[in-house]
Amino acid sequence: MRVIFLGAPGVGKGTQAQRLAVQEAIPQVSTGAILREAVQQGTPLGREAQRFMDAGQLVPDEVVIGIVREKLTSPDCARGYLLDGFPRTVVQAEAFDQMLKDTGSPGIEHVISFEVPAPELVRRLSGRRQCPTCQTIYHVDSAPPTRAGQCDRCGSALVLRTDDAPETVAVRRQVYEEQTRPLVEYYQKRGLLRRVDAAASIEQVYERLLAVACAVRPS
Ligand code: AMP
Repeated sequence: MRVIFLGAPGVGKGTQAQRLAVQEAIPQVSTGAILREAVQQGTPLGREAQRFMDAGQLVPDEVVIGIVREKLTSPDCARGYLLDGFPRTVVQAEAFDQMLKDTGSPGIEHVISFEVPAPELVRRLSGRRQCPTCQTIYHVDSAPPTRAGQCDRCGSALVLRTDDAPETVAVRRQVYEEQTRPLVEYYQKRGLLRRVDAAASIEQVYERLLAVACAVRPS
């Protein structure tokens, strides 16, 4: 399976991506997670990316395109992959198309667009907590960990992402509208777009996701 997940910040695509990637045994390539790890480790990439991320802005196209090119040419992506958070601009989408051509790789099968009304996005982001070690995502009300503030998988203390602060969320939403939403049309024109109504529980959205992904999957 080769899929792209699209959606506004807080739509729940990371949560769904973690589940689908495990079920399909394919790597979840999350540019946000890769960048956060680089920031945590203080690498040159992390130092370059941090100021954009903290401000809610996108990291420059050439930086993320380089990350994805390196990932997709690694052997673990040979059987498929799930792109979570990339592409985020038309320039990235065009570079990605070119990357597939240059490497003779098979194309994307589905671009899943997760859709949720704006007020619900705000609720989801303000309650979101994430494990800084294994990246598992929780929500204080709708998906709490068994022990408050502690990751069920690895026991690390959960954190509120710095870019989930309300001022930064407002910038991220605007950036999404201006720079990422045009990709909905980009992929619709190519016949790849599948919409998923994501204003429901994690379980229900996952069922809808499977129905969409499986309905159009070549046998
Ligand atoms: P995410 O975890 O997908 O919400 O990403 C967190 C932050 O990482 C974003 O707000 C951006 O600053 C940066 N980022 C992640 N993916 C990309 C991308 N494809 N292009 C540019 N910046 C990105």
